[in-house]
Amino acid sequence: MRTIVVGGGISGLVCAYRLRQLGQDVLLLEESQRAGGVIGTIQQNNFQFELGPQSFLSNPTLLELISSLGLDGELLRADAKAPRYVLLDGALRKVPLGPPDLLGTSLLSFGTKLRLLSEPWRRSQPPDRDESVAAFVRRKFGKDLLENLVGPLVSGIHAGDPERLSLRSAFPAVHQWEAEHGSVLRGAIKSRPPKGTLRPGLCSFREGVESLVRALTATLGDALSTGTRVERVKRGKANGRSGFEVHVNRRGREETLNSDALVLAVPTQAAAAIAGQISETFRELLGRVEYAPVAVVGAGYRREQVGHPVEGFGFLVPRKEKLTVLGTVWSSSLFPGRAPEGMVSFTSFVGGATNTQLMGLSNEQIAKAAEGEVARVLRISGAPVSRMMQRWERALPQYNLGHGNTIVALEQELRRFPGFFLAGNYLSGASVGCCAEQAVKTAGEVHEYAAAQALAEPGHAESDFQKQA
Ligand SMILES: Cc1cc2nc3c(=O)[nH]c(=O)nc-3n(C[C@H](O)[C@H](O)[C@H](O)COP(=O)(O)OP(=O)(O)OC[C@H]3O[C@@H](n4cnc5c(N)ncnc54)[C@H](O)[C@@H]3O)c2cc1C
Repeated sequence: MRTIVVGGGISGLVCAYRLRQLGQDVLLLEESQRAGGVIGTIQQNNFQFELGPQSFLSNPTLLELISSLGLDGELLRADAKAPRYVLLDGALRKVPLGPPDLLGTSLLSFGTKLRLLSEPWRRSQPPDRDESVAAFVRRKFGKDLLENLVGPLVSGIHAGDPERLSLRSAFPAVHQWEAEHGSVLRGAIKSRPPKGTLRPGLCSFREGVESLVRALTATLGDALSTGTRVERVKRGKANGRSGFEVHVNRRGREETLNSDALVLAVPTQAAAAIAGQISETFRELLGRVEYAPVAVVGAGYRREQVGHPVEGFGFLVPRKEKLTVLGTVWSSSLFPGRAPEGMVSFTSFVGGATNTQLMGLSNEQIAKAAEGEVARVLRISGAPVSRMMQRWERALPQYNLGHGNTIVALEQELRRFPGFFLAGNYLSGASVGCCAEQAVKTAGEVHEYAAAQALAEPGHAESDFQKQA
């Protein structure tokens, strides 16, 4: 049984790695010269900057993966109590992390505080229709919670527009808590992990998030072929069984590879182009998923240039503040080793679904705008010692209204094509942890498919897939 996985981002890497753990013969094809997709860590003037994700929330799948790759000793955990801030009327205000903070915060009105604290006793049910995050927050709590906390948080996580994001697709747990317990707070309390279990926390590695990619890449060895772009796919025969003909361009040379199973772990635009050759329905459904653009702007300064103590996680910016920056992570405060001695570093996110026109500006213009805004908020004087900028035109898939129906329809269509699978950040969560969980699930489905095939044809010849690589 041979499986080709297309796309060497975290989804494809984890899927291929898991398939190998399950004893499957796998080849991972990645278009770029390096694997990792949007994950990338760079060292510059002794600063360490992340091009994409700054950190990841640990979940059991990721922790198991990290252990199995021998990376436990490299793992860094951020302080869970590190303060986070929201910029309101030009000043940074602490985000309340518990009920006592909530009472004192100036981010919310008295009425909203009352509605939050009394929510467990005001039972409600979600509407049948797909409800936006904004409509949900207004229905349950109030406008100021949406504008001052939830909106900025949604920008920080999804780079999304709360008026368009679907609550049940983007925050399925919150939807479920209300549906099952009549109260979000009751549901959240009931679903807390038992005492003594490790709570999910923000993590990275000593050498940055890319350490995970490097370890996966090293383990895969020849099973990963970089510089290999999948151009076309046809359903055909492999080893006399139904399978796939995969037409690739490997460093300028056209080749045809055969496989019994095919996993597409690429963003929807690429997936639509490839899967559209198998069925027009795939092209149509995958084409529905929208993406938000994001620019990542990193800057390093000498400590004495910065007026603010910058101790904590960083700050988020409500849209009504009219800044281009969605939020800024205080990178050197979050994890050690991000800035040299006596220096600090920040990473800002710009653009998102609510400011797509910003991407019409040049890199220099975007970086300058972000640096100027952050400098005003943190009272920074002078130019950065080091700076970086990374632009992602299609950074994050948007789990907008209707997304859930698109995914259900995709799953239905997949059932018509045994041996064909999808993985990626548009299916069941965009975070690194969700991608890893989805990839492990997909690998399990491929494994089951292989077992069923083996049962149907017990004497099939062993393959040597590496020869094709
Ligand atoms: C700016 C930014 C900040 C983020 N911050 C966080 C964060 O703090 N925490 C968190 O958990 N998550 C974060 N995320 C989300 C998370 O990093 C991504 O959702 C996840 O890494 C996506 O992985 P993926 O493998 O699904 O897709 P990708 O990383 O997009 O990988 C897809 C791969 O497919 C390849 N490919 C495409 N077409 C072809 C083809 N035809 N043939 C071969 N290969 C092809 C591409 O080259 C690419 O390598 C962030 C994302 C971005 C962009």
